[in-house]
This record gives sequence, C-alpha cells and structure tokens, in this order.
Amino acid sequence: MLQDISPHHFDIAFEKGDGHSPQAKDLVAAWQGDELLLCGEKGQSALPTVEQCMQAGWDSGKLRYLFSLDEQAVYYLDLADTPFPFPKSCRLEKASSLREISPQHLSFIALVSAHLHRWYNAHHFCGHCGEAFTLSQKERALICPNCGLVEYPRINPAVIIAVTDGDRLLLSRYANRPYRRWALLAGYCEAGESLEETVRREVQEEVGLSVCNLRYYKSQPWPHTDSLLMGFYCDVEGKTEPRIDENELAEAQWFLREELPIEDPKQLSLTQEMIATFREGREPKSKQAEA
Ligand SMILES: [Zn+2]
Repeated sequence: MLQDISPHHFDIAFEKGDGHSPQAKDLVAAWQGDELLLCGEKGQSALPTVEQCMQAGWDSGKLRYLFSLDEQAVYYLDLADTPFPFPKSCRLEKASSLREISPQHLSFIALVSAHLHRWYNAHHFCGHCGEAFTLSQKERALICPNCGLVEYPRINPAVIIAVTDGDRLLLSRYANRPYRRWALLAGYCEAGESLEETVRREVQEEVGLSVCNLRYYKSQPWPHTDSLLMGFYCDVEGKTEPRIDENELAEAQWFLREELPIEDPKQLSLTQEMIATFREGREPKSKQAEA
C-alpha cells in the first residue's frame, strides 16, 4: 500500500520538533497554493534540501518541523506567506499528481505534507474568536492565545467494506466522480457511531443489504482526503440482490474470486489490496466459515 515504504522509515513523532534545528542535509516541503516544490525530473523527483534552499537565499528560521524520513528531518514552508526564490532546477507539482511520482517513499511523504499543509493553511485564525493562532511547543497543535482554543490536525475516519457471499465479493462503481474503477463500498463515520455501526449503515444505505460477521483487516492513512481508512470484511445476511443508491453509486455487482478485476497491480490503496487478498482466498475468515 501507499504507506508501505520499507526499508525507509517514516516518523511523525513531534518530540523531534522540540528544539530541532534544520541541518544542511534535511529536506523542505514548500507549498504554494496546491502545488509542492520539487527538484529533478519526473520519475526521479526529490524534495529540495535545506542546503539548496539556503543557497537560494532562504531563512532557515522560517522552516517548521513536520516529520522525519530515515535520518532526514522534513520541514514545512508556505511560499504564499514567505515568497522565497526557487532553488536551482526546482519546479512546482500539483498535489493531485503526487500519487504518480516516484520513488514511492517520496510520493507518500509528499502526500502527508499536503495533508498538513491543507490543515495549517486553513487554520491561520481561531474559529471561535478570530485571534491569530500560535504553534503549540509540546504537540502538533495550534493554540489561540486569546480564548485558549486548541486545534489538532483534522483526520477523518472512514471504513472500506468488502461484502462477501461465500466465494463472491460485492464491487461497485461511483456515480458522478472521476474515479471510474471498480471499488469496495466506503463511507465516513458519523458523530456518535462505532466503526461497526458505520459498516452496517453504509452497506444498508448504498446497496440496501444487511451484513454480519465483521472482520477487521488493516488500516491505511489516506492523505488525499485527510482520512484514516479502516478495512473490514463482512458476510451478507438475508437477501443478496443489491439495490443501489443512485446518488452515490452507478452500479454494484457480485464477482467470483477468480473473476475479480485487477485494476491497480501496485495495490497502493487499501481497497485494491483487499480485492486482491480476496481473489487469492487470503482474507480473514468468519468463525462460521471455519467451523
Ligand atoms: Zn480564540
């Protein structure tokens, strides 16, 4: 999946931000609107180093610690607030195309920096009293010096749902969205709802079916939509003919294991990995099926 970048190691812990100062070899994720500064050609992209940025006349005191990749810290700068000149051979790349850049560990950290950039960029001022936010020194948070409001990065919990019926898996296509591949059902958690309740509600709303025997599979940070995805397999219960919500879905259809389409061989998304896992018969089985 997108976040599986071993042997590289991504470390989001905030402690390193405390007193950490930018070193020449560290990296910079500089954003201008919805575009990230990258150097190198497509296919061989890289984030500019602090040294490259300093050579272009940047002030390292303006850099904000984000996270680390292996031994390199990654710092943030919003070029819209601080318009430093671009370092040599750097270009801007749209956030929407960061999923396609390689190597994969760069694609992943670039997308995580996009998630944090959107959050910082949308929270210059306190939403309660309008005072300018200040940065917390002890955690990744923004604090209002006037009313004390604390704002944390927004992460939306959502479920990915593989509805099964013996050797069949239910796939669907979205209506009115650019994404045209077959996918699993999915939906965001509502306030006051457990993940299990979200699974049951979304299946009922989107295809009019009941499910049981929920089995948790894996989770995936999905920075494109500021989300945390949690994947579940479950069994259809009672009637099996889907009745689709046409506002959400264009179609829904059962596929036998061997007929399941392989639409992304790299399996960057939890959805595509869960489809492939079912195709190979390696999904977590229900207790009923084991008995
Ligand atoms: Zn306030």
